[in-house]
Amino acid sequence: MKIKAPAPEVAADELVLEGLAVGPGIAIGPLHLHESGAVNVPEYRLPPNRVEPERQRFATAVEVALTQVGRLQAKARTLPPAASEELGYLLEAYHQMLKGSRLVRGVDKRIAERRINAEAAVQQEIQDIARSFEAMDDAYLAARLTDIREVGQRLVRNLTQTPYRPFSVLPKGSVLIAEEMSPADTALLDPRIVAGFATVLGGAESHTAIMARSLNLPAVIGVAGLIQGVTPGAVVIVDGSAGRVVVNPTESTLADYRLKRADFLRGRRALSRLRRLPAVTLDGARITLQANVELPQEVGPVLQSGAEGIGLLRSEFMFMNRPALPDEDEQFAMLRGLVERMDGQVVTIRTLDAGGDKLPEAGGGVGSTSPLGLRAIRLSLSRPDLLDNQLGAILRAGALGPVRILLPMVTTCEELREVREAMGRVTRRLKRRGAEIGAEPPPLGVMIEVPGAALAADALAWHADFFAIGTNDLTQYTLAIDRADEAVAHLYNPLHPAVLRLIQFATEAALRARIPVSLCGEMAGDPRFTALLLGLGIRDLSMSATNVPRVKQRIRSLDLVAATRRARVIMDQSDSARIAQLLDDFNADETGGRAGR
Ligand code: PEP
Ligand code: MG
Repeated sequence: MKIKAPAPEVAADELVLEGLAVGPGIAIGPLHLHESGAVNVPEYRLPPNRVEPERQRFATAVEVALTQVGRLQAKARTLPPAASEELGYLLEAYHQMLKGSRLVRGVDKRIAERRINAEAAVQQEIQDIARSFEAMDDAYLAARLTDIREVGQRLVRNLTQTPYRPFSVLPKGSVLIAEEMSPADTALLDPRIVAGFATVLGGAESHTAIMARSLNLPAVIGVAGLIQGVTPGAVVIVDGSAGRVVVNPTESTLADYRLKRADFLRGRRALSRLRRLPAVTLDGARITLQANVELPQEVGPVLQSGAEGIGLLRSEFMFMNRPALPDEDEQFAMLRGLVERMDGQVVTIRTLDAGGDKLPEAGGGVGSTSPLGLRAIRLSLSRPDLLDNQLGAILRAGALGPVRILLPMVTTCEELREVREAMGRVTRRLKRRGAEIGAEPPPLGVMIEVPGAALAADALAWHADFFAIGTNDLTQYTLAIDRADEAVAHLYNPLHPAVLRLIQFATEAALRARIPVSLCGEMAGDPRFTALLLGLGIRDLSMSATNVPRVKQRIRSLDLVAATRRARVIMDQSDSARIAQLLDDFNADETGGRAGR
């Protein structure tokens, strides 16, 4: 009998790609290509006073699309030459079209003259262009029509903020592969259905990455060549700890990764046993660990993590994936559930931080896509309706449990004063209405996340009830590095002496003014940085619930006096590489190399 030799493994089929490790863990499953699908849009007529805002909303959608295409162009340049050239031509055509084509001009004109919503105007304009091209019966034009449709769909998606596909219909255990996932798209992922995801675009500290961590999803982003290399249904591995994606893995690679996954899950289970132990250093300093929350469904994991309250509730979730702004009652209903479930533990509610890479369209398109634009507290102050509704909901939630109000992207004491005034106005209105609010006004704190705010921290500390240092934006703005752009991700470094000096200055200003100061950027959740942050005087850290046990483990192995001494040495340095070395050596001596992501 002839024995059939086992088929040799075809190594060429296996495609290994590298990207940024943003959500630890390993996902293995069938690949689902999260591609652009047509979006059905309603058509409605606008009252005359809505026409100008609608044109502006369309202009914002075009601006967002230009940014998206620009980032795809940068990514395409990193591909092998043939792919780079091919994709480059296509993206250049999209770019030109968005810069000013019949499509863009035609849509704007339709909104102005026919007074219809922007989404419907895009679809009608595309149909018109299609009809005129078809009449010419030209193969070249027929091909251009596909490009026009692609650009049109991108605009409609930006306008409606529609995720590319409903994720709930995916087969269980799917691994999502996409060009880009917005934070709002990511918020719709159900970890019981989606095993993990990988994207071409995005930076490690982007809100999409933060959302992936909070959902406990293995994720790799910034993976060049990802879309070109894959076919739907193929087996794919996303190694969110190492920043690797393997498409069509061989049997031996698969076996290897199954072992790694089992190891990872075992480690996580072991850490969860720390839940009931206090976060106390070897020399007896008690540290407060709180949780950052992006979505209400995280409250369960927060309670299980051993976190002592919510140090940062990103309220953007209340504004995501919905056509209109939520009113005060809707916001109150959402906050009420959260505050009640936290059962007496403090909930720090940050007012809407729209703009930049998250929710640029919140507030009906008035938010800015620019990280330096009309966003966060600036947007809220420019829209008293928006601010008052949010403050009203928070003040009412204050009757149900301890809450604090946190303002994003504050740069001046004047902003804080304006919000206090608004709180007074809203309190009076609520009392007139007979609404129940807390006995005392909630403490009002500021994010220290703009270099100017950090440098003026001594003045801000006189006006604020507490500080929360946001190192994600503080690093972005201090080093002028877009946190959502994978092309500059290698330059994003919170250990830069400039960032550390700002953290130190703000912390000392808060301690001098005797107001609480916490740190809630992604640094807080990485045990590599714990010794340095405590050494700088921080005693409150807020992080994704998943990271609480790891940071607690580090704290329990840490000698605070030694950490403070090492922080002093570090603060005398001017070179980030030397700082990293001094920190890593200290961690290695204390933990035998276990600290770090
Ligand atoms: C920060 O900037 O560090 C922060 C915590 O806020 P966000 O990540 O939501 O911008
Ligand atoms: Mg921020």
